[in-house]
Amino acid sequence: MPDLSDLMPLLEEIWSSRILTNRGPVLQRFEPALSEYLGVEHLSVVSNATQGMILAMRQAGVTSGEVITTPFSFVATAHAISLSGATPVFADIDPETLNLDPAQVEAQITPQTRAILPVHTFGTPCDVDRLAEIAERHGIALIYDAAHAFAVRRDGQSILRHGDMSVLSFHATKVFNTFEGGAVIVRDHETKLAIDRLANFGFADALSVDDIGTNAKMNEFNAAVGLAQLGGFDDVLAARHAVAGRYAARLEGVDGLRCVCPTGVTGHNSYAFPILLGPDYHIDRDALFARLEGENIFARRYFYPLISELAPYSNLPSAASGLLPVASKAAEQVLCLPLYHDLDEAAQDRIIDLILAKG
Ligand SMILES: *Cc1c(COP(=O)(O)O)cnc(C)c1O
Repeated sequence: MPDLSDLMPLLEEIWSSRILTNRGPVLQRFEPALSEYLGVEHLSVVSNATQGMILAMRQAGVTSGEVITTPFSFVATAHAISLSGATPVFADIDPETLNLDPAQVEAQITPQTRAILPVHTFGTPCDVDRLAEIAERHGIALIYDAAHAFAVRRDGQSILRHGDMSVLSFHATKVFNTFEGGAVIVRDHETKLAIDRLANFGFADALSVDDIGTNAKMNEFNAAVGLAQLGGFDDVLAARHAVAGRYAARLEGVDGLRCVCPTGVTGHNSYAFPILLGPDYHIDRDALFARLEGENIFARRYFYPLISELAPYSNLPSAASGLLPVASKAAEQVLCLPLYHDLDEAAQDRIIDLILAKG
């Protein structure tokens, strides 16, 4: 959260202007400040990532057909596809990165495929070059669910510059939050304006509506929360890296346990610290989860169950058990450890001791 003292002047400004939403003055400052921080040129701040993905797909003309995505994600990824009018098609993931495996994506392409919606899972970049090549060759859209990828860089450039569009989440649980919020990163100013219109019911001007838009506007309060914490955000990232580094120092190399650390990045956000507990580790994932919970330590089984196992999706042909062996195994083995910028060392040592304790 931002320092309350940084937020208060912005709240006073809102209270005196009485401009509460509809791309108000605070949002108009937050948007360029955010673009600059992230190192992207064209960005629309929106109410949340789920709406942002729906807008991105509508803008890309994806209102029917199939969209290939990962089952190893939060359910919103598939819901955004369904709510756009398309059908999700699940492809398996890569065992190292836990991101969509481009070869599996390619195998799922049919004449009905309209788009690919990969996730930079836990902030690890997807194989953006191969995915771009596949999307281009088949003439389909490439939209990234970048909910975990705030401030992630590869080759010195924002990962958000890849694909036709990328969508960030600023939900309370994410690395950078506005309580609720998100952003759609696009390639040009014209598309940014189109996203802004779609986020505001499709209004082109006061009297004309040129598309079926929704309400995905970020209000001034959420924009103020975002603007107030951009300044100190590098310190938050540094503190998160220190926590992740302490986990890695004691857990990397432990037999039967794998830390899923980001690869191929020149800047990361330490969004999560996922570990995979293999069959030869002395305690299985659910037993460790329960052991930690018994000590009031709340790890998270992200992402379990797979989206393809949830009721709205489990009957899809691509969700059939056996078709997604890598994702299924990851879902059984993964545990995301508590990670926040002010997790103190003593508490963290207690968590690690419980993970390593035999018997
Ligand atoms: C959090 C999350 C979302 C949803 O973001 P909202 O801003 O809450 O709509 C979508 N995809 C992934 C991978 C997420 O982790």
